[in-house]
Amino acid sequence: MRKKIVAGNWKMNTTVPEGVALAEAVVEKSAQVPEGVGLVIATPFTHLVPVAGVVKGTRVQLSAENCADKEKGAYTGEVSAAMLASAGCEYTILGHSERRQYYGETDAILVEKVKLALANGLDVIYCVGENLDQREAGKHFEVVTAQIENVLFGLTAEEMAKIVVAYEPVWAIGTGKTATAEQAQEIHACIRKVLAGKFGAQVADDTTILYGGSCKPSNAKELFACPDIDGGLIGGAALKADDFIQIALSF
Ligand code: PEP
Repeated sequence: MRKKIVAGNWKMNTTVPEGVALAEAVVEKSAQVPEGVGLVIATPFTHLVPVAGVVKGTRVQLSAENCADKEKGAYTGEVSAAMLASAGCEYTILGHSERRQYYGETDAILVEKVKLALANGLDVIYCVGENLDQREAGKHFEVVTAQIENVLFGLTAEEMAKIVVAYEPVWAIGTGKTATAEQAQEIHACIRKVLAGKFGAQVADDTTILYGGSCKPSNAKELFACPDIDGGLIGGAALKADDFIQIALSF
């Protein structure tokens, strides 16, 4: 049985004290959420160590938002997967569209990042999604399929068990525009089919596939009711503990 997960991506928001307070509020309210729903918060690098202290021993799991594509050494400003694991992370997000768009992350770079994250014991929330031009040109299935094939097809079935896929149409991220439940479901079903073709039906069926893109308390229920949507990657709405928890109560 695949896991249901609601993961918050804080992006470059909150100071350290604000982030600690937000994590404390999420932990406090997490008791309301049924046990079967995984709760993950992805914070900026500076927040990881103090937030790890807040979530330790609770059901809330810690994630980074990115990691380096190199193991260690002279890469000023980078943070390695080993550092993240030693800071208390259980997950890292990789391939977020903002990383692809603003920091030139290619599928080839992401292959390295995924490899290093897994080698250091981290689970990966791997993001895929088309931009508006690609959607309008009817290329969304093609784009997402390539992002899956290029980065995940080199993994073993055992490694795939450590991957959560997040479908995030770029045109829906932070825009207030949400994909309809039908639009999201058809891409999620396509992702599962692509995974089944490579790794077999069981692995595909066990893979958690999240939807991300202006997911909020008012639309989460409809999205999460779709058979291939196993939860959400939440940006803006994850910055308010009440909204984040409300989304986690939407299954
Ligand atoms: C995200 O960037 O992962 C995201 C889903 O953002 P938002 O919810 O703000 O659209």
